[in-house]
Amino acid sequence: MPLKALKCPVCGERVAFKVTKDVVKDAAQFPVPFEVIHGDHTFTVYLDSGLLISRISPSTTDPAPVESP
Ligand SMILES: [Zn+2]
Repeated sequence: MPLKALKCPVCGERVAFKVTKDVVKDAAQFPVPFEVIHGDHTFTVYLDSGLLISRISPSTTDPAPVESP
């Protein structure tokens, strides 16, 4: 089971978490969002088919803000 370690985009602390192949096994498209719980906050990493992190997002639910002109 691969162990990932990265810097939390929310609090800046180092965080380690495990991912399994199951996360990407049934994925219809890549990258696959994977939610990581870190204390009282969460963030999302996007994994490609090889379980490599392609992107990190500090927010799991908020849509991209749209600002009116
Ligand atoms: Zn954190």
